[in-house]
Amino acid sequence: MTTWVSAWQREQGGERARVLFARHFDAEPTGVWSAPGRVNLIGEHTDYNGGLALPFALPHRTYVAVTPVDSDRIRLVSAQEQGVREVDLSTVGPGTVEGWPSYVAGVAWALRQAGHDVRGFDIAVDSCVPYGSGLSSSAALECAVAVALDGLFGLGLADTDTGRTALTGICVRAENEIAGANTGGMDQAVSLRGQAGHALELDCRDDSVRQVPFDLTAHGLALLVIDTKAEHSHAGGEYAQRRAECERAAEFLGVDTLREVTPDGLGEALASLARLSGPEGDGSAAAEVLVRRVRHVVTEIGRVQEFVALLDQDRVHEVGAAMDASHASLRDDYQVSCRELDLAVDTARGAGALGARMTGGGFGGSAIALVEAGFVESVADAVAEAFTVAGLGAPAFLVATAEGPAA
Ligand code: ADP
Ligand code: MG
Repeated sequence: MTTWVSAWQREQGGERARVLFARHFDAEPTGVWSAPGRVNLIGEHTDYNGGLALPFALPHRTYVAVTPVDSDRIRLVSAQEQGVREVDLSTVGPGTVEGWPSYVAGVAWALRQAGHDVRGFDIAVDSCVPYGSGLSSSAALECAVAVALDGLFGLGLADTDTGRTALTGICVRAENEIAGANTGGMDQAVSLRGQAGHALELDCRDDSVRQVPFDLTAHGLALLVIDTKAEHSHAGGEYAQRRAECERAAEFLGVDTLREVTPDGLGEALASLARLSGPEGDGSAAAEVLVRRVRHVVTEIGRVQEFVALLDQDRVHEVGAAMDASHASLRDDYQVSCRELDLAVDTARGAGALGARMTGGGFGGSAIALVEAGFVESVADAVAEAFTVAGLGAPAFLVATAEGPAA
């Protein structure tokens, strides 16, 4: 049987967080806030290279019910985790908070670091964003906390796009420095700045965004998300390694970020990296790896531009080729795919998808497939069947539409 993960209605999600809060803290919360997970249409592993990405906000959200307290004590409970945790905000720093509370305390810490007057609070969390599935439950949690603290402590940042850009940076700091996950800024940007009916063209060189109309339903299409349920157990280390490789390549090429390598200059850049294997280089294997990484990043940024141009021209039926090419590049050059993602993508295409690719960091997590609206179920059934035949655990599916940001 094919498993579908539906999104909660906003009132339902808010009520769940409120009830959880009342049960554990024996009081009504001051307020409820929420923030979405995301899928990225194209532009993967480009954010930390100053590149372009094209994510949108899911209807699946993380809900937080929160009350401020007049001390530095944070008490936390989550429907997705065991027990009540407690953190002293005045002692938070890199490496001091174990497990999931680091994402919450990290946001409060980063707000304080930025000079905002934030105190302790009680918080109850509940979420319908699939957990650890590459759909960014981590950013959904951080961004829900960010808008909650913004509201509770009267910071006013969530009221403007400039303020939301600042909150994006706050959430990235929380994840990088307190949760210890060295991710780029795409997930937080779209959770805070995405708009319903639009994909977010995000330029990570200067955090500028453009809302690109993205309404598949109007075109008789749907975006099927396939959560492979494959564990990305090596994801953290591999992610950090890819990031370090990009930094090394940029340093060797004499640029701040790989964004500065243009498509026209790519051939020359790759040739000079390849020469690293010569007598002055540090081994052919390393050079070959850097060539692949740079080729992925530069061509992927080009594919975002291609994809956006097609959307702007109302030619959404034609974006499949860019999706397919993105997957091939992530699999062969960036080497972040895995058996489950490849099977999901290949099977979806074989069952009639117009294009398909892995989405998110890779090594497990989710894939996306662009399908004619009438084929959503048959493509999902084909993927579920292929997983059974391959002896893999059952995947889960959701249909993604572009919804609103953290509020
Ligand atoms: P992804 O962002 O792809 O879902 P991550 O590994 O980046 O996966 O983030 C998942 C982690 O974020 C969880 O292990 C947990 O620590 C934290 N988290 C996310 N959602 C919640 C939640 N609802 N309650 C508690 N912790 C959460
Ligand atoms: Mg995450």
